[in-house]
Amino acid sequence: MSLTKEQILKQYYGYNAFRPLQAEIIDWVLYGQDAMVLMPTGGGKSLCFQIPALVMQGLTLVISPLISLMHDQVQALKANGIAAEYVNSSLTSQEQSTIERQCKNGELKLLYISPEKLFTQGYLDWILSLNISLFAVDESHCVSTWGHDFRPEYTKLSVLKKALPNVPMIALTATADKVTRKDILTQLGIPEAKIFISSFDRPNLSLSVQAGRNRIKIIQNFIAERPRQCGIIYCLSRKNTETVAEALRKVGINAKYYHAGMPAQERSEVQNQFIQDDIQVIVATIAFGMGIDKSNVRWVIHYSMPSNVESFYQEIGRSGRDGLKSDTLLFYTYNDLLVRKDMIADSGLPTEMKEVQVAKLERMKQYAEAEICRRRILLSYFNEEVTNDCGNCDVCKNPPIRFDATLIAQKALSAIARTGENVAMSMLIDILRGSNNRRIIEHKYHEIKTFGVGKELKADEWADYLQQMLNSGVMDIAYDEAHAYKLNNASWAILKEGRKVQLVRYRPFEEKQAEREANIPKEKSKREIIKDELFERLRVLRKQIADEKNIPPFVVFSDATLSDMAQKKPLNQLEMFNVSGVGEQKYRQFGEVFLKEIGDFLKTIPKSSATGVDTFHYTYQLYKEGLSVNEIAEQRSLNPVTIFSHLAKLYEDGEDINISAFITETEVEQIVGAAKVMNVKKGDPIKPLFEAMDAKYEYHKIRIALLIAEKNKIKRL
Ligand code: ADP
Ligand code: ZN
Repeated sequence: MSLTKEQILKQYYGYNAFRPLQAEIIDWVLYGQDAMVLMPTGGGKSLCFQIPALVMQGLTLVISPLISLMHDQVQALKANGIAAEYVNSSLTSQEQSTIERQCKNGELKLLYISPEKLFTQGYLDWILSLNISLFAVDESHCVSTWGHDFRPEYTKLSVLKKALPNVPMIALTATADKVTRKDILTQLGIPEAKIFISSFDRPNLSLSVQAGRNRIKIIQNFIAERPRQCGIIYCLSRKNTETVAEALRKVGINAKYYHAGMPAQERSEVQNQFIQDDIQVIVATIAFGMGIDKSNVRWVIHYSMPSNVESFYQEIGRSGRDGLKSDTLLFYTYNDLLVRKDMIADSGLPTEMKEVQVAKLERMKQYAEAEICRRRILLSYFNEEVTNDCGNCDVCKNPPIRFDATLIAQKALSAIARTGENVAMSMLIDILRGSNNRRIIEHKYHEIKTFGVGKELKADEWADYLQQMLNSGVMDIAYDEAHAYKLNNASWAILKEGRKVQLVRYRPFEEKQAEREANIPKEKSKREIIKDELFERLRVLRKQIADEKNIPPFVVFSDATLSDMAQKKPLNQLEMFNVSGVGEQKYRQFGEVFLKEIGDFLKTIPKSSATGVDTFHYTYQLYKEGLSVNEIAEQRSLNPVTIFSHLAKLYEDGEDINISAFITETEVEQIVGAAKVMNVKKGDPIKPLFEAMDAKYEYHKIRIALLIAEKNKIKRL
C-alpha cells in the first residue's frame, strides 16, 4: 500500500506539518491537474512536486536550469533516502548510462534534467518513452522573456505537454509579476493551470538600515555578535568585494570575495568552501548566490544599495531559508544613490527603460528612508496587503515619534502656492529658509510673503518633512515639470480649513544609529545558554560528518533541525523522531551519533557550574535515562522530595514528564476537591491545604495534583 502525503512528510523529511498551501498543491497535482506555484525563496516549493513524485507510480521529470541547483537538490533527496538522479552535461557517459538504465527499470522517483540536455538530439523521444507521472518546471520564470532570467531553451518545453497531455505539469517560481505569470503558463502550454500564490512575507528575516559610514567597523561588530554564523555581503563592484574582504581579513574575519571576473575554478572553490562552512563570510557581487541552496545563511548585508526592490528581496531572501531567525542590514548613503543613478544614465538603454529603472530605484530609496514598518513597504511593493506592523524591523523596534506639523505644512504649502506651483524641493527649501541666492533673486522669490518663514528648521529637516508630506499625499509632484510641487485638495484643506497634519519627528541618521545600537538584546536565560551550547556541539559534529561524507553540513541536518534538537534534547529514538527534520533515512545514518552527543553533553552539565547550568536538568537527564525518583535522589545525594519538586517544576515548564505516574487519580480528585472547597488559587501557599487535609498528603503530592488540575483546565479551554 502506498503512503499518504502526511506519512511521506514525516517518514522521508521528518517534518510534522505542511506549510501553507503545500498540502493543497500536492492534492491538486495528485488529482492530475496542472499547477503554478509562486512562493518566495525558502518557501518550500520543492516538496510540492517531490511528494507527489513519491506518491505516484512512475517517474517525475524535473526541469531545472542550473547544474549546481540540480546537484544540491538531488543530494538532499538522496540524504532523505529518496531515489533521485540528474542528467546534464557534467556527467560522464558511463554515469549517464547507469542512470538511464535505472530510469528504464523504474528504479528512480525523480529525474532532474537541464533543458539543454533534454533537447539534445534524440534524447527527448527517449525520455518521453519512460513512464512519466509528472513534469515539474523549476525556476519557470526562465521561460519568459518578461522574466529577469530568460533562457531560450525553456521556450521549447511546451512540447512536453503536447506529447503527453495527460501528465500533469507543475511550474514553480519565486519571482513572477502578473504579466510574466501569464506568459509562463502560455509558453509551457498549460494556460488553464491553477495558480497558487503564497505570501511573500519572510517573517524570520529581520530588516534594518544604517547610514553608510564606518561600514567596516559596523560589519565587524555585526559579525562579532554572530560568531560562527555564515553570511553574505553584497557589494556594487568587483573591486569593492576585494577591498572589503581584505579589510575584514585584516581584523581577523574569515572572509573571501567572489565575483564574475575571477577564474571559474577559483570561484567554485570559494563557493564550495562557503557551502561546506569552511569560510563564514563571502563578499560578493550579485553574481553570487544564484545557484545556491545553502539553507544556513544566517545574515545578508548590502554594502551598497541595490538597484531595485526585487533584487534586494531576492538577495536578502538567500538568508534564513530554513525558517530560522536571520538578519539583514542595508547600508544607505546619498552617494550610493547617485552612483546608481549614473549607472542608469550611462547604461545605454532606451529612455523608456531608463525611466523605469529610475522609478524602481526610487522605491528602493523609499525603503531605505522609511519611517513606517519596512516590511509593509516591501510587501506592498509586491502588491500584498499588510494589516500589521511586523515588529521585526528597525522602525518597528524603534518607532518614530509623531508630532503636530500643521504649521510646518502650512508654511510649505503656502510657499508653493505663492510661487505659482513652480518650484521643486531645493528651491522651496531655500525660500522657506530665506536664502538669498542668485536663483531666488532672479525669480523675485525673496519678495513673497512666505520668504524665510521656515528659518528655524535646517535644510535637511525640511527635505525630510517635504518628503514625508509628499509620501502622505499632502501635496503632489509633477515629474514632467522638473519635479515642481503641486497643490491638491488635501493641500487646500490644510491651508484654508486648518486640517491637521502629523509628521514624524526628524532625526539625523547618527542619532537613529545611536538609538539602534542602544537596543541591546536582553540577557539570555540559563536554558537558552544550555541550548546554545548544545547547538554548538551539534554543529561541530555535523561539520565532522559532512567532511567525512563530503556533503554540505546543511544536507546532514539544517540549522533548524539542530536548533530543534538542542531544544528538545532527545535521548532515545522515539524522542529523536520528534525533532523536525529527522526522517527515517537521516535517523538511520546519523541518529545514534547525535543521540550520543546529546547524552554526553547532558552529563557534563552539572559539573560545569561556569555555564550556570541548573540542577533541574541534571535531574531531568537522569529521569530520561529511566531512573526512579529514589535512584535519582541517591545518585545526586538529594532528598527524594527535592527530586519530586524538580520533576514538578520541569513538568510545569512543559518538559516531557509522566507526572501522573507519581499520584493516583483518586488522590488527585481528593486534593483538587479540597483545594476547591478552600478556594485555593494558582500560586497560593500549599501549607493551609496540607493542614486542612490533616497532613494526609505530602507537599509534593499536593503540588503535583494541583499542577495536573491546572494543565487539564488549560487543555479544556
Ligand atoms: P524553495 O524551493 O521554495 O526555495 P525549499 O523547497 O528549498 O524552498 O524549502 C526551504 C526549506 O524549508 C528546506 O530546508 C525545506 O526542507 C524546508 N521545508 C519545506 N517544507 C517544510 C515543512 N512543511 N516543514 C518544515 N520545513 C520545511
Ligand atoms: Zn516592521
